[in-house]
Amino acid sequence: MTSEQWRISVDQRSCVGTGLCVDAAPQCFAFDAGRAHVTAELVEADQELIDIAESCPTESVSIRRSGSGDQVYP
Ligand code: SF4
Repeated sequence: MTSEQWRISVDQRSCVGTGLCVDAAPQCFAFDAGRAHVTAELVEADQELIDIAESCPTESVSIRRSGSGDQVYP
């Protein structure tokens, strides 16, 4: 099975700083002035990241495939 890489982004205009994503994946997200930002834009594909994106109350986390740019979430 070939591994796939995803590109994660956070829309800081809509992030309300709940910390859910930072707590769940500190290897990918961190806080900056009360809003989350991405610390590792390219990450191995992982269902957990979709779960995190789904749990964001303001739908601020987006995921795309790194090669094609196809949207993984939302
Ligand atoms: S889960 Fe969403 S609202 Fe909460 S800190 Fe992360 S991006 Fe911001």
